[in-house]
Amino acid sequence: MEERKALRGTRDLFGTEIALWQKIEAIAQAHLTRARFTEVRTPILEATELFARGIGEATDIVGKEMYSFVDRGDRPVTLRPEGTAGVVRAAIEHKWCGPGVVQKLWYRGAMFRYERPQAGRQRQFHQLGIEVLGSDDPRADAEAIALAYDLLQALGLSELVVDVNSVGTPADRQTYRQALVDYFGAHQDLFDDEARDRLARNPLRLLDSKDPQMAALAAAAPNILEYLGAESQAHFAQVQAYLTALAVPYRLNPRLVRGLDYYTRTAFEIQSNALGAQSAVCGGGRYDNLIGELGGPPTPAIGWAMGLERLVLLLGEPPAPPPLHAYIVARGSLAAPFSLKVAQTLRAAGLTVDLDLTQAKLDKQLKRAAASGALAAIVLGDDEAQREVLQLKWLQTGDRQEVTLAASIPLLHGAP
Ligand code: ATP
Ligand code: MG
Repeated sequence: MEERKALRGTRDLFGTEIALWQKIEAIAQAHLTRARFTEVRTPILEATELFARGIGEATDIVGKEMYSFVDRGDRPVTLRPEGTAGVVRAAIEHKWCGPGVVQKLWYRGAMFRYERPQAGRQRQFHQLGIEVLGSDDPRADAEAIALAYDLLQALGLSELVVDVNSVGTPADRQTYRQALVDYFGAHQDLFDDEARDRLARNPLRLLDSKDPQMAALAAAAPNILEYLGAESQAHFAQVQAYLTALAVPYRLNPRLVRGLDYYTRTAFEIQSNALGAQSAVCGGGRYDNLIGELGGPPTPAIGWAMGLERLVLLLGEPPAPPPLHAYIVARGSLAAPFSLKVAQTLRAAGLTVDLDLTQAKLDKQLKRAAASGALAAIVLGDDEAQREVLQLKWLQTGDRQEVTLAASIPLLHGAP
């Protein structure tokens, strides 16, 4: 028989690794809720055109990474490759944007990109991100970056590097783009097909090529910061001043351009030195024109997304499971219904309780109780069921005591 396996670039998440995902999500949720961000859950499937227009036709994502298909109603649809376009679509649809309104939103969920799978790079992966809609105050940029940095710190990550840049406005970029075309155009003999394609379609992307020869070329390329207009410059200076005031250790990186077309002014990325090749854990930036371009009211905005697989790789060690208060072992026709009732009552009282469902011999079930790590085994036979009492066996010491169901609750709660 053919062996069935999860598709390449997708994986099952289970066991102790799941505890790590839950911990990361719980810490993130608490962190963002304290900053008054509210969660939005948008559909995984959206119209292809949303991403093509939102992310940009010339990007790698739209050009070659999307899972797109035509549905049974002949509609071109795509599994979302990122979260911003869907949140912006929702904001326009539900009229969350308007003059003087600032929305602070966060999301989490699966994203899909047809990439070459490797450590920290999947075809189905998971992001957690924020979007701040309606403010172009440099404080919005600084708050967003600091929230990401502080969250990564709260998760226990160290060796974090925050790269920041300003990619200016489309007008700033027009002159810069020409300077890049002139510079790189003179070195085309070194180009492979992909670089040639980028030069023609999206020359800014030549700046963050991972190819060593291209990176060396990029190092001497014109600096975008010298092409910013006065307003972009002043905005970026203010963002940096706020980051300094917040003690976010950032590094100016004029070659950081990011792979999505919608960014304007602030762009940033957070890397972990501990990650090796796939070092970016968080990326984001300002996108002041996207909402207008997608048909909404002109609304400045900034956001970021973190890759949860990479956080899981970095954190590695799963958290200790919560204590198991009791493991119920039961045998007998009267003990069977009583065991269900005991489990239900103790759980309702806030205790963590496992119920052995095998009906095996009691000593066999007791072995499983000991292996479960429970504080106590609750042993139930027909005799106990008839008298409505429990045999509590403390698994650390082996001590036994007979108690009523009601009396067992404070004993189990009070156990070390
Ligand atoms: P990279 O340079 O690693 O491809 P990116 O610029 O494509 O990243 P973004 O689109 O900004 O990434 O997404 C934000 C974050 O999502 C990244 O910093 C990374 O942590 C994570 N991420 C992106 N693509 C993947 C993937 N295929 N598998 C796992 N995580 C990913
Ligand atoms: Mg990528």
